[in-house]
Amino acid sequence: MSKRDYYDTLGVSKGATEAEIKKAYRKKAVQYHPDKNPDDAAAEEKFKEAAEAYEVLSDAQKKQRYDQYGHAGMGGAAGGGGFGGGGMNMDDIFSQFGDIFGGGGGGFGGFGGGGGRRQRVRKGSNLRVRVKMTLEDIANGVEKKIKVTKLVNAEDVTTKTCDTCKGSGQVSRIANTILGQMQTSSPCPTCGGDGKMIDQKPDGANADGLIKKEEVITIDIPGGVEDGMQLSVSGKGNAGPKDGIAGDLIVLIEEQPHETIKRDGTNLLYDLYLNFADAALGTSIEIPTISGKVKIKIDAGTQSGKVLRLKGKGIPNIQGYGKGDFLIYVNVWTPQELSKDEKKTLENLRGSENFKPAPKSSDKGFFDRMKDYFN
Ligand SMILES: [Zn+2]
Repeated sequence: MSKRDYYDTLGVSKGATEAEIKKAYRKKAVQYHPDKNPDDAAAEEKFKEAAEAYEVLSDAQKKQRYDQYGHAGMGGAAGGGGFGGGGMNMDDIFSQFGDIFGGGGGGFGGFGGGGGRRQRVRKGSNLRVRVKMTLEDIANGVEKKIKVTKLVNAEDVTTKTCDTCKGSGQVSRIANTILGQMQTSSPCPTCGGDGKMIDQKPDGANADGLIKKEEVITIDIPGGVEDGMQLSVSGKGNAGPKDGIAGDLIVLIEEQPHETIKRDGTNLLYDLYLNFADAALGTSIEIPTISGKVKIKIDAGTQSGKVLRLKGKGIPNIQGYGKGDFLIYVNVWTPQELSKDEKKTLENLRGSENFKPAPKSSDKGFFDRMKDYFN
């Protein structure tokens, strides 16, 4: 299907200024406005066409692309304004009007044409919960069952057509605007725009026919979440009034500190305090990781400050690619109290050539290790 040229649609020349384009669009919008042309499909089509043309020609970037490539340049990603194959929808068009007709008070509040086919569906409110996560939960992902008190549709609620708007969901009034007298429509204050009113409801239900109920919700929380993160579970919040759509459940993550393991992004850090003799003689030792105990080998002559790395034993990346490491930071523990015999043994060793510090260039000091760690 060949599309009409946007300039032709608005009746302006290619060289038209911004002001001329705006003026031309106003004229078309008023001429084909649905409130002036009730149940006229051709007028509605023209109204939409004009809005689409204006959407493009009023935006410097889109206009340039259109001038260069024509309609071919406006497909796909270029349709960010909401016009893909089927043109713009009415809500988009009316949301554009504040800009064209100035201010929200005058002009067109909404679109009331067609007797009730533009009722809104009301959405329930969001429900917020906090979820405490241990480091183990965060490392592995977890299924949490949470008890919430939420609004649900009460049983035996009946609805009837709204008295105020007679079911259209809209109320109209005549307003004086810069374009002369216009009929404006806005959502019905009685029913909130859905055209229905509660007829009968059981005791305990609120004016919207909703009632509080405790419910256990199961949520799958992926691995890698962080303190303060919010996950949104669509449709698990409070019910929407009168068969509306349920709101969302917003889950706020609260990270609980671990007793011995610290988290740094996707890496886990563990301080290992090593017996002086074990460090000198070598040993094997059990480390509590997030996935259970892991036995690691300590080489003879291990220095304080050495970092051992268990690859891939950290926290998964929240986006799903890769896992961090589990880093073991070795601290050689110097005994703080010694028996007479121990003192004597150490006194004998004090002068030993092997006890004399002799760092090789491969033995990095604190600053070099920090540099390595942050790189
Ligand atoms: Zn109503």
